[in-house]
Amino acid sequence: MGKKYRHHQKGTSVSHSPPQQPLPYTAPSGNVASAAFAKRCYHDHPPYEIAPGLTIYGGSGNFPAVEDADVYIGFDHGMRRTKAQFPWNDGPVEVWFKITDMSVPEDRDEFDKMLDWTAAQLKEGKKVHAGCIGGHGRTGLFFAALRYKLTGDKDAIKHVRANYCHKTVESVQQVKWLMQHYGQNEAVATKGGGGFKQSTQSLGQVKPVQPGFWTGPSAVAGNPKSTGKPTNRPASIWGA
Ligand SMILES: [Zn+2]
Repeated sequence: MGKKYRHHQKGTSVSHSPPQQPLPYTAPSGNVASAAFAKRCYHDHPPYEIAPGLTIYGGSGNFPAVEDADVYIGFDHGMRRTKAQFPWNDGPVEVWFKITDMSVPEDRDEFDKMLDWTAAQLKEGKKVHAGCIGGHGRTGLFFAALRYKLTGDKDAIKHVRANYCHKTVESVQQVKWLMQHYGQNEAVATKGGGGFKQSTQSLGQVKPVQPGFWTGPSAVAGNPKSTGKPTNRPASIWGA
């Protein structure tokens, strides 16, 4: 039957599968595409005290961690937007600030203004949620930059990882950008892609990430002689 079916399928282009849509999280039940409903890391992100007395929330912009925020900032095009986005309706402020996945802001000036604006919101006591897809790369970059502006912490990446989620700030490009623009000390990237090899070469000092912590095949791309074993793992990446 398989053979016949394939032959038949070859002559048609009908797809019976609907377009992929983000699925709302519900507890797995039965055998219905349980993987699609798997609980994600962002469901457990704690409130993040980004500076003394100032707490911010982060995770998925598609499925925010809190429903009662005054401000929702999203970096991914899949950001949930509601009728509150229309200026004639009441509701939370919804800010969509596009950043490509694994990448950095194209307009640093506007990004910086957003940091200042967000800091002001927090200081006024507003509840702010920021999110991308998983709440790690772009959201982590935003948090690290914001913490640096609020506190001057040169290890803001480390602080975000220790106090919000260890997966934050995913690509070498993001780490490098934070080093260049927001005074950050060197940190390993938590994920590959996004020009890992190229960025590593240009940085010349980024160490291979921890095997097991890394899932891609080029974990040791920056060091051709590496055996894959961590020899120079910074003691600082998980924070105190
Ligand atoms: Zn996480």
